[in-house]
Amino acid sequence: MFRSLLLCLLVLVIVLTACASPTPTVTPVPTQAPTAVPTVAPTPTSVPPTATKAPPTATPVPPTATSVPPTATAVPKRDLGKETLAPNDGWAAEGKGTTGGSAAKSENVYTVRNRKELIAALNDGKYPAASTTPSNTAKIIYVDGTIDLNVDDSNKALTCIDYQKEGYTIQAYNAAFDPAVWGKKVVSGTLETARVASQKTQDERVRVRVGSNTTIVGVDAKATIKGGWFDIRGTATAPLNNIIVRNLTFQDTYDCFPQWDPTDGTDGNWNSQYDMISLRYVDHVWIDHNTFQDVETEDSKAPTYFGRHFEMHDGTVDITNAADLVTVSWNKFANHDKTMLIGSSDSGSTAAGDKGKLRVTLHHNFFDNLGQRTPRVRFGQVHVYNNYYRVINNPKYGYSFGVGIESQIYAENNYFKTDDKVALDKVIGNYKGTMLYIASTRVNDQDVDLLALHNAANQTKIADKVAWKPTLVIKVDPIATVISTVESGAGPIR
Ligand code: CA
Ligand code: CA
Repeated sequence: MFRSLLLCLLVLVIVLTACASPTPTVTPVPTQAPTAVPTVAPTPTSVPPTATKAPPTATPVPPTATSVPPTATAVPKRDLGKETLAPNDGWAAEGKGTTGGSAAKSENVYTVRNRKELIAALNDGKYPAASTTPSNTAKIIYVDGTIDLNVDDSNKALTCIDYQKEGYTIQAYNAAFDPAVWGKKVVSGTLETARVASQKTQDERVRVRVGSNTTIVGVDAKATIKGGWFDIRGTATAPLNNIIVRNLTFQDTYDCFPQWDPTDGTDGNWNSQYDMISLRYVDHVWIDHNTFQDVETEDSKAPTYFGRHFEMHDGTVDITNAADLVTVSWNKFANHDKTMLIGSSDSGSTAAGDKGKLRVTLHHNFFDNLGQRTPRVRFGQVHVYNNYYRVINNPKYGYSFGVGIESQIYAENNYFKTDDKVALDKVIGNYKGTMLYIASTRVNDQDVDLLALHNAANQTKIADKVAWKPTLVIKVDPIATVISTVESGAGPIR
């Protein structure tokens, strides 16, 4: 009794002392809501060359399972930067799992607000001449506000015209390669060289290399990467690993300099360079609670040249070149055509490296009015469950599940909402695939066997089975709850 009383007194003294102490002079921790950041208008003032280091939080938050949608009730703010992938949450949970930069020392925790700070944070705090060899040191990078990648080192906006080199203009390019003049051979010569040089100039601004053991996370739901390409790429002999990208909006990644390829398809096509995220020669990657969308550069605003859409976009998240063990969860993909390519080629050196790799889990993603590739798979064992596909008033819709060479998609409990313009035998696209497991698919409140419809409409049949069964899965939700769960939970958390 007396000892308890003493203890209480002691605690009281400590508390009173703490209260009497002045407020620590540290800058706010990244978990606190920042003041509103303008989404346009880069600051005209020059930018300090290094990223601001964020102080460590006083009490580290233990890693917890995170794949839950936000609830309506108020909950204490989480430090997303310290969170790790929950055990069994998809292929990225294999082996040691995916922890990103959660173990970062306090000096490797950054809050970044512009391109230069972001690139510096990826390079041990020093802004490099070229960002091609990012640091693999464990690091957490909090993105605050909108970071536009199409800017100079003073954070001044750059337009497509600013990148033009060696006499390139779209008018000159089109005059040179008009099929009526040039014909149908592959483009070459002065203006194609000028296009390549111009594209390289943009590439040096927008391409962001990310090293191993890195977490990049938005401080709130406003955090945006605009015009950027996260090129997460190791090499065949030295792959990267252990990377987390969460709570960000990737918007309007666009290539100012699409290439005209007269040999692509019967009428030629315009092709672009930049994905929003590319994963190549990397394993254990968790991409969670992000939005990927086109707004200012959406396809409907692009011109048509030579009768073909001037395509300024490539993929949103493309997973190729022996990338492996990836979980893509709770993201919203909207208003884009080519969404997710898994495996880039049927043959050649990449195909050899891809066999046995490209293992990906896609769950609780909202695929909203996309053209194709959600996903399109070669070689990989890909678990696709509890995703919500909405295809309404989308004249450019092609297909959803692309069954490519040696692919083994295991799809279950996915929900489709479509209008009557979507032919259900086209939801599965066959690109030299032979097998697909698909179960419990619902379309507009009806259970539909999409594979039976596909096989009834096509000479070449796809077998209704694959040679593996997912084991890295926490819980497959019942089909009836998918729309409400994904609509409320997908995309940035706060
Ligand atoms: Ca791509
Ligand atoms: Ca089936």
